[in-house]
Amino acid sequence: MQALRRILGGTPELELLWGEPMANLTSFRIGGPVACVVRPFSEAALAALVSLMRKEHIPHIFLGGGTNVLAPDESWEVLVIQMNRCLGKIIELSTGSGGKRLVHVGAGVRLSSLLRFCLREELEGVEALVGIPGSVGGAIVMNAGSRDGCIADSLLWVDLLEKSGERRRVYRAELPAKYRQMGLPRDAAVLGGCIELRKGSGRRLRERMGQAMRERRASQPMGFPSAGCIFRNPPQASAGALIEQAGLKGVRFGDAQVSEKHANWIVNRGKASAAQVLKLMEHVEQTVLNRFGIALEREVHVLERGQSLH
Ligand SMILES: Cc1cc2nc3c(=O)[nH]c(=O)nc-3n(C[C@H](O)[C@H](O)[C@H](O)COP(=O)(O)OP(=O)(O)OC[C@H]3O[C@@H](n4cnc5c(N)ncnc54)[C@H](O)[C@@H]3O)c2cc1C
Repeated sequence: MQALRRILGGTPELELLWGEPMANLTSFRIGGPVACVVRPFSEAALAALVSLMRKEHIPHIFLGGGTNVLAPDESWEVLVIQMNRCLGKIIELSTGSGGKRLVHVGAGVRLSSLLRFCLREELEGVEALVGIPGSVGGAIVMNAGSRDGCIADSLLWVDLLEKSGERRRVYRAELPAKYRQMGLPRDAAVLGGCIELRKGSGRRLRERMGQAMRERRASQPMGFPSAGCIFRNPPQASAGALIEQAGLKGVRFGDAQVSEKHANWIVNRGKASAAQVLKLMEHVEQTVLNRFGIALEREVHVLERGQSLH
């Protein structure tokens, strides 16, 4: 820790939060303290940090808005790198024919800010993402979306910072994107991506977004900390419907509970621990497997102390 303080301290290009609990960084409000949260103020500082981590073999992870992760309860000697102090720009690259607009969005931009930009500029193409919390970087990694579409639908390319410190552009056609996963290399940082939008009608956009938000409020348990859907929908089935049919709605381990409103959500009713959430997830997986012969896949990223990048 002392060595880490010496290595990182004194540089004006990084915001450092020592011993910050992951509970403060995640929408689940769960997780013990990490060695340090580092927020570079520029892309250059991020690149320098990543090569330093690699050179010194310092365990680290990348984190966006923390809205799709379950962090461990115990303290964790890891550096958490967040891009919310850099890579925060939305830049129009070009206006194509037929009202097409290419827009580059930094990984540190909040998804809600991107949607506000689209509304202001009357640009259609990513309305399916309305109401999804977190950052653009996280949305790209997760291929975030709803039943109306996902971010991969409008993505043209992703800019990555490789473990080697090199910048690399990966085009959409090269990505094995599928439902809730983009298939990016796990050890690369997402710097941002280019999306294709088109000029649309402000009124239509407002109506669509308003309707999507009303549906969310009606079907999702917004009142408690959570990470949204816990499991991916299996092919031709709804994870929520399977969990509900297995009689698991409302089942609780400590303060971790299968939501009574939406069975694919686990909510933190107060002081839930990661251990309780995990126990509940395993119980749901086992019950659904026994009842329907379907193995649910986890959508939420369960962070483990042994799996950080070096
Ligand atoms: C109330 C609620 C509603 C939700 N609704 C939806 C929904 O409708 N649809 C949906 O798809 N999801 C939904 N989610 C889940 C979540 O919001 C999305 O998956 C979101 O895109 C995650 O973004 P994030 O920035 O929070 O990522 P994080 O949770 O911070 O990270 C997710 C993963 O991406 C990695 N990562 C993040 N940023 C980077 C980066 N810049 N470079 C490299 N790796 C990175 C992390 O290491 C982690 O493995 C919901 C969550 C909540 C809490």
